Amino acid sequence: MNAIDAAHTVVVATGNAHKLAEIEDILGRAPAMAGMRFVALGELGDYPDPEENGKTFFDNALIKARAALDETGLAMAVADDSGLMVDALGGAPGIYSARWAGEHGNDEANNDKLLAQMAGIPNEERTARFHSSVVLVTRDEDGEEILAGEGDCEGVIAHDRRGTNGFGYDPLFELLDVPGKRMAELTPDEKNAISHRRRALDDLVRKLG
Ligand code: IMP
Repeated sequence: MNAIDAAHTVVVATGNAHKLAEIEDILGRAPAMAGMRFVALGELGDYPDPEENGKTFFDNALIKARAALDETGLAMAVADDSGLMVDALGGAPGIYSARWAGEHGNDEANNDKLLAQMAGIPNEERTARFHSSVVLVTRDEDGEEILAGEGDCEGVIAHDRRGTNGFGYDPLFELLDVPGKRMAELTPDEKNAISHRRRALDDLVRKLG
């Protein structure tokens, strides 16, 4: 890749190309971000993932953004952390969404576990939401500035899987905004228009001014 212009580069702490594109598209439109280039952390080097040992989505997003700044020496980083919160399960799986069934990122096992834990729970008690925290950290000689955006996408947990798009818990997540549709039945554009990540990014853009 081209040489890095540190003053105009935002490192995005994600290995997911779709997230990079979404973040670039939405944050890139903020006037405060004019002229900035968004680069995935993985393009800058082969860095180990930091331990996500925070207690909240915000904490874990901040851990990832700070690690990206420590590793690259750049001045601006964005990271996100997200997950599913189910009311009947006291907000679980929450920050443990990716590794709820044991193995990190095993969507099939996570969905099996969710169906099992929700067995017998009536429809009106199956409410849930996806949550996303997006954090932008800027460092200069005076210290660090942290801006965060938060977003939710409301729905209910269905009794079976439907749809093949998306990832994670999407096949079990019936949308409040699009009644009768699962998140996994939306096209990527439809999902990006209403997702928790989209709302968190919009919130961050508002705060950027
Ligand atoms: P991450 O923050 O993108 O790594 O997401 C953590 C975990 O939360 C994922 O592995 C999924 O299990 C769940 N998750 C986050 N966002 C979504 C989504 O948009 N659809 C389905 N599952 C999601």
